[in-house]
Amino acid sequence: MTYQVLARKWRPKTFSDMAGQEHVLQTLIHALNHQRLHHAYLFTGTRGVGKTTIARIFAKCLNCEQGVSATPCGKCTACTQIAEGRFIDLIEVDAASKTKVEDTRELLENVQYAPSVGRYKVYLIDEVHMLSNHSFNALLKTLEEPPPHVIFLLATTDPHKLPVTILSRCLQFSLKNLSPQMIAEYLKSVLVAEQIPFEEAALWSIARAAQGSMRDALTLLDQSISFCAGNVTEAEVNSLLGTPDQALVMGIVQALNADNASELLEIANTISSRAFDYFMLLDSLLALLHRIAIAQLVPGGIDNSQGDREQILKLAAELTAEQVQLYYQIALNGRQDMSLAFDARIAFEMLLLRLLVFSPQAPDLAAAPVLSADAEQKKKPELIQQEAKPEHPSKAPAPATPRQDAAAPSFPQATPAAAFVPELETPAVDSSAEIAAGASTAEPAKASDTTPPTPIPPASGQTVPHASLNADDTGEFWISLVETLGVTGITGNLLANCVLLSMDENSMTLALDETQSALFNEEHGRRIGDLLREHFQRPLDISIEIAGIDAESPARYQQRKREEALLQAQQAFENDEHVQALVTNFSARIMPDSVKIIDEVKT
Ligand SMILES: [Zn+2]
Repeated sequence: MTYQVLARKWRPKTFSDMAGQEHVLQTLIHALNHQRLHHAYLFTGTRGVGKTTIARIFAKCLNCEQGVSATPCGKCTACTQIAEGRFIDLIEVDAASKTKVEDTRELLENVQYAPSVGRYKVYLIDEVHMLSNHSFNALLKTLEEPPPHVIFLLATTDPHKLPVTILSRCLQFSLKNLSPQMIAEYLKSVLVAEQIPFEEAALWSIARAAQGSMRDALTLLDQSISFCAGNVTEAEVNSLLGTPDQALVMGIVQALNADNASELLEIANTISSRAFDYFMLLDSLLALLHRIAIAQLVPGGIDNSQGDREQILKLAAELTAEQVQLYYQIALNGRQDMSLAFDARIAFEMLLLRLLVFSPQAPDLAAAPVLSADAEQKKKPELIQQEAKPEHPSKAPAPATPRQDAAAPSFPQATPAAAFVPELETPAVDSSAEIAAGASTAEPAKASDTTPPTPIPPASGQTVPHASLNADDTGEFWISLVETLGVTGITGNLLANCVLLSMDENSMTLALDETQSALFNEEHGRRIGDLLREHFQRPLDISIEIAGIDAESPARYQQRKREEALLQAQQAFENDEHVQALVTNFSARIMPDSVKIIDEVKT
């Protein structure tokens, strides 16, 4: 008795046997059951996802002697002959080997003749994108005026290479890659039916290695069965595939979590002694970190199909989300580095050490200045000395970031000027009460035109500085006043570019920076006057002159504060012991321009 390979033996014979591709099957079944048939179908998708399998079942559905339906009998002559690949009205062509125009012509010249035995003449052209331009033209002519008894089933891994004229005449179905879970389940059903003992983890290894292709998965399963002498175990499958044991990969993350360098090196030794494929190893590590990250967000989202649910949930609880993200990022970058390294083993061990050395400082990421140049360093890594680890990571001092200034260089802050703010900020209720009490102040702006203003004592809590203020105080007073007014737009911008020259109980004189005066007009002057009169609740006489100014306007003050904050952030970053350790130990280069103040980064 000859052995039939699993991929052929277990090729689905009906739509209900298929694993996955429900979205395609549903449409086809509906079309078949309602006899709404198109004359050309195009199935796209990567290799081994079921394109030709679906096409063959479809051919059976069309030609089954029991009638057109989505459930061919599988027993009639047409069904059995199609299953055996010798049905005369199913013309299968592999376009990869028949690309010449003569071939296509020969193929298509019999199109107009009615089917010999079946109901439909079905042309199944695999890898149709391989046809030459002339062949496409010949095919196109047929597709433009298809005889009613002909149905074209086209399959390709590369639909982008098809002319649009062909694409537009086909019903297109895009087949998806099969998920590892789907593949593992299918393999399981095959092994149960074949009565072959197996370990579930072995099936997952095969499913991952098959990368979405069921045909590859079945071929790998075939190899595994003969390699494992009948009992499909994880260890043997992994050694066949060159994939690492999940337990080993789990061990890496556990050692990282425990900060255990010697354990990690031991794992590295085991790995090198078993000659694993380091890329696969890294992919497994990435997949594991991905599962941990998911478990942190949705603990219920992790299945136990790999038998590691408990371990993953434990790690998800013990690691911070930042740690998992950082490990993932380092491992992903490491994958790229590994392809450059002359020795993958060394690159992998370096990667393990890098993972160990970096541990994100989870609680206070937002406070630290951000180095935007490098994703790894973005996480504000913390260096743990390898030989001597005197201090626990969490005990390490936070970087001496001037958080207040760096994070929020908000306008006059912790300066003497701030002392003015509370005095100037009068609750609205108080002001209106004041207005009600003193009728003469009800319309202060207009009143100033007609009645000579009598000195009115400032409204309660409002301090009007007198000429006795020295120049510095005037500046601070004005800066905090403009901040308190909180005006935006052009008026706000003009105000911020003014300095206060003088002020007494009846008048204020401002100077507008001439370099910023282009937008200034009478309307703005009037608005500024109204704003100030309203604020002080008195008929102030406001004059604004345009001049070159030396004093610090609110706008310049803000600019200076920003620059200072940035400089402080840069210095704090450069002086940070962890950053210095990076520079010393890893030849890191600081790019001062990439240091940003957090609120600027966010916006
Ligand atoms: Zn049949």
